[in-house]
Amino acid sequence: MSLYKQSLAELRFGLDTRQFSARELTEAFLARVGTHDAVLNSFISRVPEAALLAADQADVRIAAGEKAPLLGIPYAHKDIFCTQGVRTTCGSKMLGDWVAPYDATVHQRLNAAGAVMLGKTNMDEFAMGSSNENSAFGAVKNPWDHAAVPGGSSGGSAAAVAARLVPWATGTDTGGSIRQPAAYCGVTGIKPTYGRVSRYGMIAYASSLDQGGVLAPSAADCAIGLQAMAGHDPRDSTSAAQPVPDYSADLNQSLAGLRIGVPRQWFTAGLDATVAARIEDALRVFEQQGAIRVDIDLPDAELALAAYYLIAPAEASSNLSRFDGVRFGYRCAEPRDLMDLYERSRSEGFGSEVKRRILIGTYALSAGYYDAFYGRAQRARRQVAENFAAAFAQCDVIAGPVAPTVAFDLGAHASDPATMYLEDIYTIPVNLAGLPGMSIPVGFSGLRPVGMQLIGAPFTEARLLATAHQYQQQTDWHLRMPAAYEEGSV
Ligand code: GLN
Repeated sequence: MSLYKQSLAELRFGLDTRQFSARELTEAFLARVGTHDAVLNSFISRVPEAALLAADQADVRIAAGEKAPLLGIPYAHKDIFCTQGVRTTCGSKMLGDWVAPYDATVHQRLNAAGAVMLGKTNMDEFAMGSSNENSAFGAVKNPWDHAAVPGGSSGGSAAAVAARLVPWATGTDTGGSIRQPAAYCGVTGIKPTYGRVSRYGMIAYASSLDQGGVLAPSAADCAIGLQAMAGHDPRDSTSAAQPVPDYSADLNQSLAGLRIGVPRQWFTAGLDATVAARIEDALRVFEQQGAIRVDIDLPDAELALAAYYLIAPAEASSNLSRFDGVRFGYRCAEPRDLMDLYERSRSEGFGSEVKRRILIGTYALSAGYYDAFYGRAQRARRQVAENFAAAFAQCDVIAGPVAPTVAFDLGAHASDPATMYLEDIYTIPVNLAGLPGMSIPVGFSGLRPVGMQLIGAPFTEARLLATAHQYQQQTDWHLRMPAAYEEGSV
């Protein structure tokens, strides 16, 4: 089988049995990036020389008999993870040529694992967005339909995986940025429990919500990527000290007796009828495998959305104050004085969505308004977490939509931020409660993929991955790829 269609386990087997070398594998994927990315724009930076060097080093380790799941296998990083020697832009002009002086913990771990980074993927500026249209490096196309957005903010990672330009990629999810682009591009994505993956060296958007994770074709591939990234990090004080289970070993847990909770409030007028129908199809597949469907109540999604769009901008306004034209990145030309330097560096360096959020966040945190906005939003956040806790008394996993629609047209919501924010109504509550969530492909609406969300109680990633994997043993949506990216079609 062509290399680009193989799972991570198949690639591992091929490398370990010397059917191909890490260099050959890396060259094959670099060639795919070269052929297709002029159209897709899924990469902000490519590093072919460094990738081939890493591949050669991996070949030496493989020849020495080392066994490691990702050794010699290519991947791409969302351009939010700091990487020494390769610029980290966060999708912003502000960091357009900034090179981090240190590696993110996630990057350090992947380097140690011998994974081969092909480059850094496109994203909404500072991870703010649902369509990847807020990138200073241009929009990304959805490989299934070039008229559609790939979703955001990890749109570059999702598109690159969907087109099989890389076997897997990293992402981050503050309010849905792994799950929603995974759904729009027909790939599998996992956002782990808050604290499962270190945030050290992952540029902060909203620190109490941000969490790194994986986008890959299948749940089995996600298990391997997450295994390498997860675990306690003393350099991140919010990182969890919990041991990391063996995600791949746990994939074969049976679905018999698994209680799948389906929130009544999520299947209402706001949800596209075709998306709802594909999710119902998927639920029947779970039931055929012995899972038990339980209808549950999960109220307050609107409350969660409102709370998120106060909390996230408030934290962002504080996190982004460090980009002042002095310490990092972009500096305006010929400042008149210090105030002029601050003002023009920030107004020229940031895009309009980032500025909108800084304004909202600064306003919400200002003296006199703090309790009316931020304090109330925090109370709503607690309510959302309690709603989930009550739901998990009745079920083991919650299933529902990822987004109200499939991928929308490029430009469709560009001038309407409030409609864009509604895209996150089913994903945001999960971040507010710090829970793990996944998106798995469950069919199509026309050309455009439909994703289903699976949500678990804290630190039940193994259960979620196994649930998704069992579904993927019965279906082949995760194996489909857009015809234009098949070899021989260009
Ligand atoms: N779309 C949401 C936002 O714009 C979520 C982004 C994210 O998860 N990084 O904030």
